Amino acid sequence: MITISNLKKCIIGIRHIVKIAIILVIAAVLIVGIIKITYKQTYSVSLNGEIIGYTQDKIALQKRINDYINSGNGENIAFVELNDMPEYEACLLKNGIETNDEEIFNKVTSSGTSYYKYYAITEENEEKAYVKEFADAESAVNQLKEKKSTNSDNLGIVEKYATTEPEYKTAETCVSELYKEKKVVTAQATTTIPKATYTGPSVKTDLGVSLVKPVSGVISSRFGIRSRDNHKGLDIAAPKGTAIKAAANGTVIFSGYGSNTNGYSGYGNTVAVKSNSSVTILYAHCSTLYVKSGQTVTQGQVIAAVGSTGISTGNHLHFEIRYNGKAIDPQNYIY
Ligand SMILES: [Zn+2]
Repeated sequence: MITISNLKKCIIGIRHIVKIAIILVIAAVLIVGIIKITYKQTYSVSLNGEIIGYTQDKIALQKRINDYINSGNGENIAFVELNDMPEYEACLLKNGIETNDEEIFNKVTSSGTSYYKYYAITEENEEKAYVKEFADAESAVNQLKEKKSTNSDNLGIVEKYATTEPEYKTAETCVSELYKEKKVVTAQATTTIPKATYTGPSVKTDLGVSLVKPVSGVISSRFGIRSRDNHKGLDIAAPKGTAIKAAANGTVIFSGYGSNTNGYSGYGNTVAVKSNSSVTILYAHCSTLYVKSGQTVTQGQVIAAVGSTGISTGNHLHFEIRYNGKAIDPQNYIY
């Protein structure tokens, strides 16, 4: 039953609730305000588990550290390896306590090791001289070849990364230091097969032979300059034992394990087939050889099986075409 007195009581009750609600809202606004004035949203930064400071702009700090890793401060630095990467954790920091991005950056980067990039000119895989730019190394090697330095077939360029820089030389100094004049040959001549030299991206030469794929598989390394050495052939990955077919007709001029004596050092079990007066094709790193030196082979004939002998990191065929003794890019013709 609603009476006047009950209705009054009810209205007084509602008023009471509204009052309390308003007080609560004001209190909440005040608390948030006080927190905002007293604290700020930051990130604590720790290195190796120890807090080294606070930042308000985590993204900017991270970017600055990443930029440092990618190039260092010095102009010649290739990259920087940091011992420890900083960790970030969101936190509220009392106003008045300063953020210290600069100090954090310095602490993080002080544990870094800088790596320099440069190039070594090698002779018989031994590092002989260092240059800053690849172009200098290339120019020195090309000049030595032009001058017909006797070591020019054994020169290489290796990309290097190290924590200290060696003494750099100019291309000209490298040439004068590495140049070896041709000596008059005395005693009996030895029949060594000349090593192939990288000829660069050359125009397609007419080989005078037709070629078929010796194996089908995935190309794992192309012809040309690789990070560590000049790659003189085309690598085709295939399982051990995969039949290797002669890419062209010809006469086997070498079948055996490569060594310094026969000129195929590092090639492992290798078959060399001479197809005409200019063209010789090599099949290297084989597990088994099915043909002998002096034997005639026809295109498509199985001559060996894929393996990983010699300097090799996995089962593949190293397929190398030499035109007048110089390695040329097989992909100008097949694959
Ligand atoms: Zn290879």
